[in-house]
Amino acid sequence: MKLSSKNLEVALNKTYDVIVAGGGAGGLSAAIYLARYGLSCLVVEKGKGRSFWMQDLRNYLGLAPTTPGRDLLQQGLEHALSLGVDYLRGFVEEARDEGDLFAVKVKVGKANSLYPIFHSKYLIAATGIIDHLPQLPDMQNVYDYAGYSLHVCLICDGYEMRDQKAVLIVNSESQINTAFVLNWFTPYISVLTHGLCSVGPAMREKLAEHGYPLYEAPIRRFCGENHQLSGVELEDGTHIEATTGLVAMGSRYHNAYLKGIPDLNWQGENLLTDEWCRTSHPRLFALGDLKQGLNQVSIAVADGTLAATAIWREIRRAAPPRKWVE
Ligand code: FAD
Ligand code: FAD
Repeated sequence: MKLSSKNLEVALNKTYDVIVAGGGAGGLSAAIYLARYGLSCLVVEKGKGRSFWMQDLRNYLGLAPTTPGRDLLQQGLEHALSLGVDYLRGFVEEARDEGDLFAVKVKVGKANSLYPIFHSKYLIAATGIIDHLPQLPDMQNVYDYAGYSLHVCLICDGYEMRDQKAVLIVNSESQINTAFVLNWFTPYISVLTHGLCSVGPAMREKLAEHGYPLYEAPIRRFCGENHQLSGVELEDGTHIEATTGLVAMGSRYHNAYLKGIPDLNWQGENLLTDEWCRTSHPRLFALGDLKQGLNQVSIAVADGTLAATAIWREIRRAAPPRKWVE
């Protein structure tokens, strides 16, 4: 059932088997499996996550490589709702472990917000990450290309960049190393720091050896039309010809709500899990981009399957046997 500020009562009076924070690829997959195991589940989704920005899902078996992330989300949500999953548009602010249950505080509504607290036995953290993009005064100019010909994921889109003139946009010296992976797909790489970091002599030398020019002036604007990049103009007037690009500026991790849970195993901002996606907390699972591993839809979807199955197994084993009684 779709929940909103108008019908929260039902959910407030309930203890869910599982609350799924984040209704992207991993979260919706988990919800579908949980519902099919006969477990109750509430998905809380803030909207406009990483899979929403994915303009094409290019490498997922069974789907055309032109499938937008929005279609995956729409179909996944309809599927989950048809199985009886509860779904709420809201922002998970805080998760607290109260012993046997998790208490999950959600902000609902941008104006006159409500802050309901929902309870569940298990929590699945499927809130993912979001890529940092270069900040320009006109962000629409960035959005016109990001996700189309200006990519954020080498694994997803290296193939799209083959043998094209490419810009690699970084915000730290260490991110420049991406150039030496990107060159599997194309050697025509111009590295742009957007004025955000300094570059030491060793890295300059390595770039020069490879023949990759380095531009350190800030970007003024991306040029092209219909989402197709043709070049980049810098603040110092330089024009760089490029028909594709990769942004390697790191990501924001959607994990603030978990920071009050003690003793979680983090690697940087990623959660570490076992092979069933269980964190170091026995009733907290983490999926997809938020957990350490490959950031791909296929992985997030499989993670949802694993976490839901591990939870079901535990709840089933603790339940009394169902006997055939007339
Ligand atoms: P997401 O799908 O991002 O889901 C997390 C959800 O949690 C989001 O919907 C977000 O809104 C929500 N959320 C976050 N914080 C909160 C909160 N506090 N409260 C409530 N909700 C919250 N992958 C591929 O496999 N193939 C591709 O071709 C591909 N192309 C891509 C192109 C682009 C432009 C981008 C940006 C990504 C691409 N990816 C691709 C990567 C793919 O989008 C991710 O790997 C995948 O979505 C991860 O799934 P997830 O469930 O972990 O995270
Ligand atoms: P397969 O998809 O079985 O691929 C292995 C391939 O190898 C086969 O095509 C086979 O012909 C070929 N092969 C075998 N030996 C050789 C050889 N020596 N030389 C050459 N080729 C060979 N899973 C779900 O997730 N959801 C469902 O709803 C679901 N429903 C199912 C319903 C049925 C009736 C069945 C039978 C299975 C169902 N499954 C379902 C399970 C799903 O089919 C498998 O988990 C999945 O196909 C495994 O993928 P795979 O690549 O490991 O194996």
